[in-house]
Amino acid sequence: MKKELEDALAEKYEFMKPKTSLQQQKKKGCIHDLYGAFGCECSDGWYDLLNEMCAKIQAVYDKNNMEPDIVILQVKEKWGKLRFYYHFPGDNPGIHAFDILGGPPSLRIHPGKKENHIHKEIAEIVAWGEKRSGEICEKCGKPGKLRNDLIYILTLCDDCYEKAKKE
Ligand SMILES: [Zn+2]
Repeated sequence: MKKELEDALAEKYEFMKPKTSLQQQKKKGCIHDLYGAFGCECSDGWYDLLNEMCAKIQAVYDKNNMEPDIVILQVKEKWGKLRFYYHFPGDNPGIHAFDILGGPPSLRIHPGKKENHIHKEIAEIVAWGEKRSGEICEKCGKPGKLRNDLIYILTLCDDCYEKAKKE
């Protein structure tokens, strides 16, 4: 995603501010914070969706008079859909998804404690956003659908799909 769009998210939502840059992590000799290192590893068409997800997450904290403690670990496209990996302090980051070699379906695992209603609401928002990404063109943000017949599985609108077929 374009740097200016990533910056816009970081400016609006404290929890979207990258914590450690790729350079800082390289100096330490290990990449542990993929979001800090690579930002949003998807195309610009999902910016509005990400913005909406972040606004909903922020609203959950606001409603509970809490400072957001969510830690963003990785934001990327996988098999044509958005993956928004995160955890909460004190949680073991653990496994975020079981992806079967060769393609979907995969099993998504959400962090947090079942009895914690904030964690539960955030898991629901993230699940909603990840599902919704399958209906939004990743390139331009217009209504799209999952395209299974390109080199990679992608969610694209008709125009971007036609272009991708010619590439
Ligand atoms: Zn498009």
